[in-house]
Amino acid sequence: MERVYNFNAGPSAMPLDVLKEVQAEFLDFNHTGMSIVEISHRSAAYQDMQDDTIAVLKRLMHIPEGYHVIFMQGGGSMQFLMHGANFLKTRGGYLNTGVWSDKAMKAASYYGEVYEVASSKEDHFSYIPDESTFTVKDGTDYVYMTSNNTIHGTEWKTFPHVDVPLICDMSSDFLSRPVDVSQFDYIYAGVQKNVGPAGVVVGIIKDDMLQKARENLPAMLSYRTFVEHDSTYNTPPVFCIYFVNRVLHWIENQGGLQAIQKRNEKKAAIVYDAIDRSQGFYTGHATKDSRSLMNVTFNLGNADLEKEFVAAGARQNLIGIKGHRSLGGCRASIYNAVTEEACQALADFMDEFRKQH
Ligand code: PMP
Repeated sequence: MERVYNFNAGPSAMPLDVLKEVQAEFLDFNHTGMSIVEISHRSAAYQDMQDDTIAVLKRLMHIPEGYHVIFMQGGGSMQFLMHGANFLKTRGGYLNTGVWSDKAMKAASYYGEVYEVASSKEDHFSYIPDESTFTVKDGTDYVYMTSNNTIHGTEWKTFPHVDVPLICDMSSDFLSRPVDVSQFDYIYAGVQKNVGPAGVVVGIIKDDMLQKARENLPAMLSYRTFVEHDSTYNTPPVFCIYFVNRVLHWIENQGGLQAIQKRNEKKAAIVYDAIDRSQGFYTGHATKDSRSLMNVTFNLGNADLEKEFVAAGARQNLIGIKGHRSLGGCRASIYNAVTEEACQALADFMDEFRKQH
């Protein structure tokens, strides 16, 4: 078996140790004589595992009292609608820093007025706006942001302070670094980049925020349902949650989020340095102070050269370095599970390709 260097944007690389662990446990989950996909979500064996998942997440993120952790389906895209359904009553403000916040804003507009608190759209989402440029209108129910912009490769280094509740889509940098959960009223993350297989979204919701949620929503649209029924109102995606459990333990064994961040910074520097020493052969899409630790986006001189670059990379087992179709160019996603060795292999390849062209 030969594993490639996987730079896919999501679904994406998972820790090899976890993949092996899941494989080894697949036929007999926790001495039940059944696979995790064969047991009831109402069983003690399942409940213990879900409880443990929440407990480890709370430890890793230092989630304070007064927050609930929930598991939902429908991906990040369902959250684009659901946060609006629950919280948008008068107007919602959006920090529009990429395709995904743009989509969230459009989906939530079904429930009320939406507007941009700040935006980098006119500059092709190449930077993170400064807090001094924000305009928050009176009567704003919340400000919504995306911590890491998967397609354009920008990331908030610090989080803004606003006088209204703050909602954050952390899908593409969830658990890649420590964050101060108390700064947020609602955090959600589709897990399919850093934490598990596509199919579950983790929500971290402040009790005060939940109190503000719209009543009388259809059950599956309401965050209350997920909190009140401990995410088992209906059948949760048991395999995904189990897999997330194993990844959370893996992160803990790596030394937690501070250690993970340190490693991610080192990895990102390896790839960004290859861009910066190329004297313009590679140009980064993001401005330097907004660069993402997760998604490195860059261009070569023209589309043909980029095509050649992607093909030559694939011949050396460097997979997934084509940019998102909406932006073009190239993108290397270097989530938690992507090793330093993989980043070094990419940087070496970038140097070599540049010299040959
Ligand atoms: N938010 C972010 C930051 C994303 O990167 C993505 C998808 N890559 C989404 C939301 C949408 O997620 P999904 O495909 O699960 O609906």
